[in-house]
Amino acid sequence: MKNNETKDLCIKCGGKCCINHPCHFFPKDFKEITVKAIQELFDKGFCLNYWEDSPVVYFVQPKIKSDSSTIQALWGNYILDIKDSCIFLKEDGCSLSWKDRGTGGKGLVATKDKGCIVLDGCSKEDCKNSWIPYQDILMEANNTYIQK
Ligand code: SF4
Ligand code: SF4
Repeated sequence: MKNNETKDLCIKCGGKCCINHPCHFFPKDFKEITVKAIQELFDKGFCLNYWEDSPVVYFVQPKIKSDSSTIQALWGNYILDIKDSCIFLKEDGCSLSWKDRGTGGKGLVATKDKGCIVLDGCSKEDCKNSWIPYQDILMEANNTYIQK
């Protein structure tokens, strides 16, 4: 996705989206989806969250700063402080380069007159649907993970 950052608007806002909730990452945001690759993501600051479907569907997002658990049930309106926000959020914004950011973060775009909008195909529901084929891998990665 082409860089669509709106730094002027986001600096004014102070990064509310990243403070309120870590963004969601799609499988296509990572080079490979294997048990080993997911466990390496846990080491790098990612965890699993889940969508309460029947059965629940797990997807990948960054951890928050105060919690190293590999499953973090963070849902909407989970208001955090910047000190306890997404692990990648620094005072001057997201510390990940544009290419390393997730589709959930890239797909939330600030506009001057319509607030912040989610681009087509970038919603959390789209994300959880894209992880459905990988549920066994995510579960095995979680169940066999040994924290370093
Ligand atoms: S995308 Fe919206 S909520 Fe997030 S930092 Fe920018 S203006 Fe704020
Ligand atoms: S990864 Fe970056 S864009 Fe996504 S919530 Fe964290 S700080 Fe924000």
